[in-house]
Amino acid sequence: MPFSSLGLLPELLRAVGESNYPAPTPIQQEAIPAILKGRDVWACAQTGSGKTAAFALPVLQNTLNLDRATPLRVRTLILVPTRELAAQVGETIQLFARYLRQPPKVVIVFGGLSINPQMMALRGGADIVVATPGRLLDLADKNALRLADATTLVLDEADRLLDLGFAVELTSIIERLPQRRQNLLFSATFPPAVRVLAERLLHDPIRIDVPTTTATQPDILQRSIHVDTARRTQLLRHLIEKHGWTRTLVFVATKYATGHVAEKLRRAGIPAAAFSGDMSQGARTKALADFKAARVKVLIATDVAARGIDIAQLAAVVNYDLPRSTTEYAHRIGRTGRAGQSGVAVSFVTASAEEHFRLIEKRQGLRVLREIIAGF
Ligand code: AMP
Repeated sequence: MPFSSLGLLPELLRAVGESNYPAPTPIQQEAIPAILKGRDVWACAQTGSGKTAAFALPVLQNTLNLDRATPLRVRTLILVPTRELAAQVGETIQLFARYLRQPPKVVIVFGGLSINPQMMALRGGADIVVATPGRLLDLADKNALRLADATTLVLDEADRLLDLGFAVELTSIIERLPQRRQNLLFSATFPPAVRVLAERLLHDPIRIDVPTTTATQPDILQRSIHVDTARRTQLLRHLIEKHGWTRTLVFVATKYATGHVAEKLRRAGIPAAAFSGDMSQGARTKALADFKAARVKVLIATDVAARGIDIAQLAAVVNYDLPRSTTEYAHRIGRTGRAGQSGVAVSFVTASAEEHFRLIEKRQGLRVLREIIAGF
């Protein structure tokens, strides 16, 4: 099925064509026509499934049929869990909008930066606002925007919005929206809390299920390696050197470990950077840019900091420390093997973590052969 059969405007197809996407992904095939028709959507989709374009393209097209922005008024609201994701989704939308004769006004707002420029940007209203919930409410409380005329609400990565404790903010935002609106909910997983939210929010939705368990994603090779706790950094070095991994995302359990492991790798001559919530926004942006540009080969991150990082061509994801939950495991390893590319996810399993990893395997319905590498 080509992109041109989905009902999108030629200007949008032109921008998509330049992205070199060979064909719409399954979620794009189903979501784009449904959203163009004005339907609510309940989509089960992981990062890497092409979900951003699945809502960005039809939302852009629908926005063109509305009156344009008037002071303070917001038409489409896209809520995302993290600053990085806000920036990425905003950039994707602007990229797709570039050939539209009257591109909609897109404003991106998130915490960690001064609020004043964001207030200024919203003064004339916005056709599309991409926001993290906390900052959006701050802006609403300062009367910097008006949600009462919004026509569309998008919740991206709804499970992470709730994981990060945004339930109260979401309720408060939803209360400010008009009753009649289009609702699009994207989530990698549907634990009870997300299900409740979906049921409350969506009217007669079209349900789209793209297989989410990583077990069904053939392009991610899962490996697990037995290792001594104290030998993990050496094993990481060994793997990076042996496989020539260019971009490797390594998950650790603590903010301290991000800096510590990065430092050890740098001392061994491997360009590595820490990526944690403790770092300033500027330092995080720089680390991410260096990683994207391959000036840094290894990014050592915590789960919270890494949420929403969208980097195509990650060679590998390494669980230096295991994630706490199966959901988190699926999210982490879903960061490699994106959009048709193959990837590898390696979990370091120490003796004390063996039982925990078995549980993750069981919940995923999958066994990953434990490897033993001599010397580690
Ligand atoms: P997402 O699921 O939105 O995080 O997208 C994951 C990655 O897939 C991004 O890097 C997109 O640029 C890419 N992508 C999105 N749609 C397609 C497509 N139809 N074909 C190939 N790559 C795509």
